[in-house]
This record gives sequence, C-alpha cells and structure tokens, in this order.
Amino acid sequence: MAYDSNNVFAKILRGEIPNSTVYEDDEVLAFHDLNPQAPVHVLVIPKGEYVSMDDFSKDAPPEVIARFFAAVGRIARELGLDEPGYRLLANCGAHGGQEVPHFHVHVFGGRPLGRMIARERA
Ligand code: AMP
Repeated sequence: MAYDSNNVFAKILRGEIPNSTVYEDDEVLAFHDLNPQAPVHVLVIPKGEYVSMDDFSKDAPPEVIARFFAAVGRIARELGLDEPGYRLLANCGAHGGQEVPHFHVHVFGGRPLGRMIARERA
C-alpha cells in the first residue's frame, strides 16, 4: 500500500494539525490520543513514511526499528507506566482495525486494562 501523505499523522508531523506532544526527537514523535481509551493513551510514531507495522518491519533500517522501540519503552517509563505496567498495541491493516495509515504504537496505562482482546469475538 502506497503511503498517503494526507493522513492525519503526516499532517501532525508537518505541523498542519496541532498535537499534545509527550516526546520528540529526530526520528520519533509521541503525543496524546485525541480520543483516549485509558487514563493514559499515547501514540508513538516514527517520522519516516511507513504505512503500518508491516512495511515498518520490512522496509525500515534495523537501527531505526531498534531506536523506535527503545523510544517507546523510554516514553512509557517517562510517563511513569513501567510500574505497575502498561499495554502496547499496533493495529495493522483492515483486520487489525487500523484507521490512520501511518505506523503507530498505542501506549495504554493508568489502570488495570483487563483482557487483551474481547473474548466473545475470538
Ligand atoms: P488506529 O485505529 O490504530 O489507526 O488508531 C488511530 C488513533 O488515532 C485513534 O485512537 C484516534 O483516536 C487517534 N487520532 C486520530 N486523529 C488524531 C489526532 N488529530 N490527534 C491525536 N490522535 C488522533
């Protein structure tokens, strides 16, 4: 799938849409989700143009992937989530329920989060 540079996170990266930034470096931006599903709900995105986990894992240089996931862990710690814990989620494609076609990892925390996926839909 070709990268759509009009997606909402591309607009955030270009500064065309405001965001509530939690963390930023040359390669990564983290910001609060507009529609939080937990007391803490932060999105972490690479600045590179990757549609999903599929092409990020396939096409991004290994060092970029490593730095990205190190940043996700650091951001969670800086948010105070390492104890008592948190959840990561990366929706990929149609069955994954991905709405925004720029790879992102959700970081949820701030309360016990229950089961990882709805049991009745398994
Ligand atoms: P996904 O279904 O994994 O693609 O999740 C997309 C997420 O982006 C949803 O949780 C939305 O609430 C969030 N979202 C959409 N637009 C914005 C925005 N402008 N700022 C922050 N979060 C957003």
